[in-house]
Amino acid sequence: MRTPLVAGNWKMNGTRSSVAELVQGIVAGAEASSGVEILVCPSFIFLSQVQALIETSTVALGAQDLYVEQGGAYTGEISGSMLRDAGCQYVIVGHSERRALMGEGNDIVARKFAAAQLEGLIPILCVGETLEERKADSTLNVIGSQFSAVVDAVGIEAFATAVVAYEPVWAIGTGETATPEQAQEVHAGLRAMAAKRSARIAADLRLLYGGSVKADNAAELFSMSDIDGGLIGGASLEAGEFLAICTAATG
Ligand code: PEP
Repeated sequence: MRTPLVAGNWKMNGTRSSVAELVQGIVAGAEASSGVEILVCPSFIFLSQVQALIETSTVALGAQDLYVEQGGAYTGEISGSMLRDAGCQYVIVGHSERRALMGEGNDIVARKFAAAQLEGLIPILCVGETLEERKADSTLNVIGSQFSAVVDAVGIEAFATAVVAYEPVWAIGTGETATPEQAQEVHAGLRAMAAKRSARIAADLRLLYGGSVKADNAAELFSMSDIDGGLIGGASLEAGEFLAICTAATG
């Protein structure tokens, strides 16, 4: 039985006051959404503020990135132990924006995944193909190599405490969403790849869909058998819209 997870990736957005308003709205509505785990991933600078506001709620806290090392002379970086200390349970690794804009390849993503688990954080590993790769019919190859790079580095057992998010790059922030059938096909492919390593781990592995999920398309996507919730960008910045997406995951 996989409990659905809906995670808000707030990216580089917010001010102290807008973040307070957003998180208070989510906390107020979260009680009504039983049967779904709700996670918010603010920018590093807001983690402690958000942690204080969600402390007595069921909402969980995650970060958007971490560094591969545990601590030391790495100016500007944030370690897994710092995230843990700030109250995080989850951390996103391998988001396509970091892969594309910060040049993070599969090897660094695998190291970040391992660094997260070393501190007891649950990594949300993002995988996804570009439009060119989809048009070239290489979606499952691309996703397979992004996924395998991490499995080869950490072993399939590590996925007992991890989440994978399928996020087609062409659907992120574009308003264009994969159809439920397109998303399901990739999710089923991912689960089959995991099952080749361990049927037990594959059966329990939560696979999120991300890419322009909104309140009005979430229920259809989440109704697919291998979609266990969503990683939500733009639509997670408005409490009512985000909560409606969370409710869609309970159906
Ligand atoms: C994301 O960045 O993880 C994402 C899914 O963004 P959006 O929902 O805005 O497409």
